[in-house]
Order: sequence, then structure tokens, then C-alpha cells
Amino acid sequence: SKTIYLKDYQAPDYLIDETHLTFELFEDHTLVHAQLVMRRNPALSADLPVLTLDGQQLELLELKLDDRALSATDYTLTDSHLTLQPTQASFVVDSSVRIHPESNTALEGLYKSSGMFCTQCEAEGFRKITYYLDRPDVMSSFTTTVSGDKQKYPILLSNGNPVASGQEDDGRHWATWEDPFKKPAYLFALVAGDLWCVEDKFTTVSSREVTLRIYVEPENIDKVQHAMDSLKKSMKWDEEVYGREYDLDIFMIVAVNDFNMGAMENKGLNIFNSSAVLARAETATDAAHQRVEAIVAHEYFHNWSGNRVTCRDWFQLSLKEGFTVFRDAAFSADMNSATVKRIQDVAYLRTHQFAEDAGPMAHPVRPDAYMEISNFYTLTIYEKGSEVLRMIHTLLGEEAFRKGSDLYFERHDGQAVTCDDFVKAMEDASGIDLTQFKRWYTQSGTPRLAVAERYDAAAKTYTLTFIQSCPATPGQRESDKLPFVIPVELGLLDAQGDDLPLRLQGEAAAAAGSRVLSVTEAQQSFTFVDIAEKPLPSLLRGFSAPVKLSFPYDRDQLMFLMQHDSDGFNRWEAGQQLSVQVLQELIGQHQRGETLELDQRLVSALRTLLQDGSLDQAMVAEMLSLPGEAYLTEISDVADVDAIHGAREFARQQLAEALFEPLWQRYQANREVSRTTPYVAEAEHFARRALQNIALSYLMLTGKPEVLAATLEQYEACDNMTERLTALAVLVNSPFEAERSKALAAFAEHFKDNALVMDQWFSVQAASTLPGGLARVQALMEHPAFTLKNPNKVRALIGAFAGQNLVNFHAADGSGYRFLADQVIVLNALNPQIASRLLAPLTRWRKYGSERQALMKAELERILASGELSADVYEVVSKSLA
Ligand code: GLU
Ligand code: ZN
Repeated sequence: SKTIYLKDYQAPDYLIDETHLTFELFEDHTLVHAQLVMRRNPALSADLPVLTLDGQQLELLELKLDDRALSATDYTLTDSHLTLQPTQASFVVDSSVRIHPESNTALEGLYKSSGMFCTQCEAEGFRKITYYLDRPDVMSSFTTTVSGDKQKYPILLSNGNPVASGQEDDGRHWATWEDPFKKPAYLFALVAGDLWCVEDKFTTVSSREVTLRIYVEPENIDKVQHAMDSLKKSMKWDEEVYGREYDLDIFMIVAVNDFNMGAMENKGLNIFNSSAVLARAETATDAAHQRVEAIVAHEYFHNWSGNRVTCRDWFQLSLKEGFTVFRDAAFSADMNSATVKRIQDVAYLRTHQFAEDAGPMAHPVRPDAYMEISNFYTLTIYEKGSEVLRMIHTLLGEEAFRKGSDLYFERHDGQAVTCDDFVKAMEDASGIDLTQFKRWYTQSGTPRLAVAERYDAAAKTYTLTFIQSCPATPGQRESDKLPFVIPVELGLLDAQGDDLPLRLQGEAAAAAGSRVLSVTEAQQSFTFVDIAEKPLPSLLRGFSAPVKLSFPYDRDQLMFLMQHDSDGFNRWEAGQQLSVQVLQELIGQHQRGETLELDQRLVSALRTLLQDGSLDQAMVAEMLSLPGEAYLTEISDVADVDAIHGAREFARQQLAEALFEPLWQRYQANREVSRTTPYVAEAEHFARRALQNIALSYLMLTGKPEVLAATLEQYEACDNMTERLTALAVLVNSPFEAERSKALAAFAEHFKDNALVMDQWFSVQAASTLPGGLARVQALMEHPAFTLKNPNKVRALIGAFAGQNLVNFHAADGSGYRFLADQVIVLNALNPQIASRLLAPLTRWRKYGSERQALMKAELERILASGELSADVYEVVSKSLA
């Protein structure tokens, strides 16, 4: 496979001003006619180089240049390009091609899902629909006519506004859509199917009325309201917080069952994985409701950060994704609990993005090379990209950041731009120089930040010294990396736990209790004055930078911070660090074959939390959650899978027994409210159920009969999936075999027709760490509801097994690795994007001991030798073996 480099970027030779498409949909093929109104790029010289159009898996039926039919000698055709010679600066290319959406299992381009036609063009799917300049810096207006059987496909949709429609004889009909906003081809969309919609209206800030429609299969029409509410909240929020108004008269969302990612922001016609739209109490958990709200917002926000202003090339992907994740995170924080949202985002980032940044696919937020762009829709581009935006926000402050985003949208509306253009707008609006800061875009790897303190009692000064470094990553040596700009928000706590006023040496006056220091040097000290007694520092509040911070806290200090830190995020963080210390001690005992002994300070810290009725219940639930096995793996030099699992389970068991009383009380009190309150998808109710459910999962570890009875009561009598699925998961992980089988069977019987609920049924079992995990997963692959052709199913069963069931996946005999490789080999032919994403756990082989390393590498080698590999799989496998 060929590597594409950012340094080779060249502006397009030709532009496309207008794109006129006609689709004739049939059961065994589709005909696409494209008329492209083109011209020589006026920014380049006046000569006329050859025109090279992208096109893959297309059967060319006819080609015309300015109405002149071209014969095979007039053009060159390869399996990826069509080349011809224009004779004038302005010209029209007409092509007709035949394609086969009915047999497209890669779910890229035009494909069929549950009987409907739909598209996914980002990043390079449009070239599987027609010959085109399939690159984001070629922006065109689009007119699209779709024709199909009226009975099978009563709904025919594309981007923009509907402008005409009509009947044909023989039962077919057609509709024409016009999108006046110039856009790159990756934002093109088409949908045809038998769909119902829920309709609503939104009146924009300038009093324009927008029609909102969410289209779903008829049986799902009762699961759309939450997404509609989320959409209206998003539209309002973007007006208020970013000054962004919607621009077309109609905004549509379509739910499809087979989808490689979460959702896609096609102009005016978002296409969503049904798991990211459908939500109602009986079938979707609280987490699913929050995910729907976040993804609806994310795709809607792309209308400005992505569509009105798009990316010049795919190396700039984080320009739209990092910014849009940052925007949707702020939205979710405003709609729910801001601290809990931050905790969840940081836990996810540190577990998964940090692992990516330390692995063979590590890349900068703005990569400089790729083989297959689909492999770069990563946690680094999305989540770390969002952290980079968050740091700019922290450094500039709310007001200057908003000025910067206004300037960015105004200056670049209708353009395809770069990350540098974004940063430039932020600099111009704020007057702050971000030159050094931009290293966050070009240097990969997670920086380490070691902090040391020195207190001088006589001088009443307190000095913090920061030492930063960044480990080597593919293509970047440690010694080549230059210091980052690291915003460190901090406070200093006195003996009562209050924030001290902060005055740095040389400053005239003290500032309030929390402030941001910019660490810009490899080593840098800051001295605070007027500090009467030795304080306890609270560092990196709110996780103000995506770094690995170390400070030599002892466990008593962490317990003190857990109770007193004025920053909610850092109270949680202190609890996590305490748990990490305690768990690492247990891991060591396990490895040395010693009797495990839990530090009772963790027990008493959690008891204090459980007994304090004034705390936010969602926070208590978060603080009761021990760091996950994947996070413990990430922070280990060599991850000992069995010791990590054994130590963590031992700690959970001990906590359950020691804290039985307060857990049982909180459980019963919350279950009582849940029993008597109808389901509401709002923060306060999420919080109550979160605490109730984590309490139940601890309680069941004691195996007491009253807990079993409570679990069965909750399972049977609840009115929502959050409580039901938790009860099911608790049973699945319990020793109560008969109750477990009965609940699993009843659940499957009740929900057999609901694919999304069955996904959860698969996941709960795939993640169960009881022995025999692989055999259970293999048996479930034979279940009638399972298919490798549906990405949600693959993720729910195989992805959950390899990603969450670490003890079973990493079985010492290598059976988990062999199984995963087998699935990757099958999926490579079926759906390369899904195959390559499924591979990730095998690429992390360097984390493990030598026996597991050898087994994992052998499976990667086997994939490499298995036959013709897609570019997607080849890139990941070859880079992880390099
Ligand atoms: N641009 C989409 C999003 O993050 C994902 C891309 C895809 O579906 O390929 O909103
Ligand atoms: Zn996105």
C-alpha cells in the first residue's frame, strides 16, 4: 500500500462548480449519471494538465466531454482513476456508471441496510458512487435526482431542499433535491426507503422556521422523541454559546441499522447508526440516552465546524473533529452534570487514547502520513484533539476564545482550511502567540509532567518545579521532542482544606484560590509567596492538560484531597490515585504469591462518601468505581493480566463485605424511589440510578440471598433498561447459575425483535469475566440474532470480548488472540474498516509479558499472511509489527 504525505499536498488542478447527479435505483444494480461543471483552478497557471478523477468499483457506461462522447482511446481507466485531457479552461464532464449497492458489505459509498438505500461518503466513499475529485478542498453545489420503486422506497432524500418530484409509469417515482451550499463530496448523502418520520419545528434566533424530521423504520417511530428534544436543545445551544444559526429550511436525521461509525454530518441530511438515535426508557439505558444526546449535538454542530468551514485535506481531520467533540462535550456538560461529564471523558481518554498514544499507531493530532485515512478516525484525532481545543480555551479564557471562533467562522465561511488557519484566528482575536502551543498538533505521545515541591518556612515561600518530557513514538525520537505549552490549573490547600490566596514572586496582588500556570520549559519553577504553612497542592484541576502527572502524594494526603479539594474533578482524581496505589500494592502481593491485604484507608474513604447524604449521587457513583483493568494495564510497564484482575476483584469483594450496610441502605433507598417514579432521562435521575446500580453490583459480590432477591425484583419490576440491564449483568456475573440462565432466556425472548437491545444482551455476556468466556462468545456467534455483517453486532460481541473481558481475551494459551485474528481475517473481505478497528487489542502486544507477546505477534503475522489484505488492515498490522 502507498503512503500519502501531508508535505505532498497540492491544490487541485481543477475545480467543480456544479454537480448534477441522477440515481436510478434497482434491486440488482444502480445507475448513476453525473454531470460535473468544471474549470481550471484559477489560482494555478493557465495551461491544462490532464484531469484525474477518482473512481473505484465503478462500471463506466458512458463518458462525455462537453457533449462529445469519448471513446476508450480518449481516456485512461485504472481500478482507482479515470484520466482525460480537457481542451478548454471551462468544461462539462458527463459520466454514467453502474454500481452494486445491493452487494456492498463494506458500508462505504452507496449501500443497502435493512432494505433501504443509504450512503456513507466520509472520508473517501464518494469515489465508489461516481467519478469525481473526491477530496475535501473541491467544493461544489449539488443537485440530486433519485428515482426508485414507489412502493419499496416511498421516501427519497438527499442534501438541501426538495425542489421537484413526480411519478413515472411502471410504479416508479422520483424526487429532486438542491443543496445551495457548496460542499465537498464527503458530505453528500442519499436515502431511499420505507421510512416514517417524526416532524417538529425550530425557530432560529433570526426568526426563520426550520422543519426538523427524524426518519426511522416504522417499528421505531416510538423511540425518536429523545433525539428530537436533543436536536432542539443543540440548535438553541449553538446559537447562544457560539452564535451559530442553522442555514437551510429543513434538517433531517435518518436512522440506519448497518453503519460503521456513530453518525455522519451530511449537509442537511445526517445519517445515524440507529444506536445513536433510538432511545426510550424500556429499551435504552441512561448511558445510551446520554450518548444519543451527545451524538445528535455533535453531528448538528458539524454544520458549522465541518460543513460551512471544512478541512483542506484529511490530515486536518481534527480541525473539524477535535473542535466538534470539544463543542459537544461543553453542551453535554451544560445539559447534565459538568463534573461527571469531565470525569467520564478523562477516564476514557486516559484509558484508551493514552494507550493509542503509547502504541504502534500513535500519531499527532495532525498526522503527517497515512496509508488509509479510515484508520485515522481515532481517539487521538477526536478526544486528544478536543483536549487541545480545551487547552486553547483555558489559555485564552471564555471571551477571547469566543472572539476567536467568531473570527474563524467569519473569515473561512465556505472554505476548506487547515489547523493552522484555526489557530491563527485564535491568535488574531486574542493577541496571544500560540506558536509553541502548536507542538500539540505535530508531536505525538502523551507528555509526562513530574512535579516536585519545596517549602521554605523562614521565607514563607512554596516552590513547585515542573519537569516535562514525552516518550518516543513511531517516527519521533524522545530527544527530538520540544517542550509543550502545558496549562496547569492548581490550588494550594491549607490545613483546613481551604484554598490559599495565590501570589507568585514578583506579582503585586494575590489571585483567587485557583489559577492556571503555563508550563513552557523542559524544567520550570514557580514560587508562591506569603505561604504561612506548608500547603497541599491540588494539581491539574479539571485535568487542564492531557498529560501524565506525577507528584509524590501519600495516601493520607489523597484522602484529605478527596474530602476537601474545592475542585470536584480533583476530588474524584484523588480517590482514583488512592485506589491506584492500593491496587498496585495488591497486584504486587498477587505476583509474589503473598496473601492479599487491602489497605483499610480505602474502605474508610469510601465509607465516608457513602454516608454523606449531601453529595451528588452521580459523583459518589463515580468515586465508588475502581480504576478499570484497562486503565491499570495502561499505567503498567508490563501488564500482568491475571494479577490485575485478581487484585481488583479482591478489592471489590473486600469493599462489598466491609461496606455492606451503607451500600445496602443506599441501594434500597434509591430503588424505592425508582420503583415509585416513572423513568425520566434527566441528570438527577441518572445520578440516582447510577448509585443504585453500582451499589447493587458490589452487593452481589457477597452472594447474600437478600441481594439475589433484590436483583430479581429489580429485574422483573423495573420500567426501564438501565435497571433491567444492570440486574441482568449482575446475575450474569454471579454464581447463581439457574437465575442467570433464566433471566438471559427471558430477556432474549422478550427483546428478540429489537436489534439494539439484543446488542446489549450480547455485550453483557461477552464482558463476563467468569471462566469459559471464549466458549460463550463462540456459542453466541451461532445465535440467530448475530451476524458479522452488522457492525453493531461485531462490536457488541467480539469487540466487547476483546476490549472489556481482559482475563478471558488474554487467556494464556492464546485462544482469545487466535479467535480475534480469525474474525479479522473474515471481516477483512467483508468490511475492512470494521476489521481494522477490531484489531486494536492485538496491536498492544508490547504491554504484555514475553509469552503473550509471542502469541499476539504470531496472530498478527498470520493475518499478514492470510491473503489479499485491505489497505485498512494492512496498515494496522504492518505498523504494529514494525
Ligand atoms: N464525521 C463523522 C463524525 O465524527 C464520522 C465519520 C464517519 O462516519 O466516517 O461525526
Ligand atoms: Zn464528527
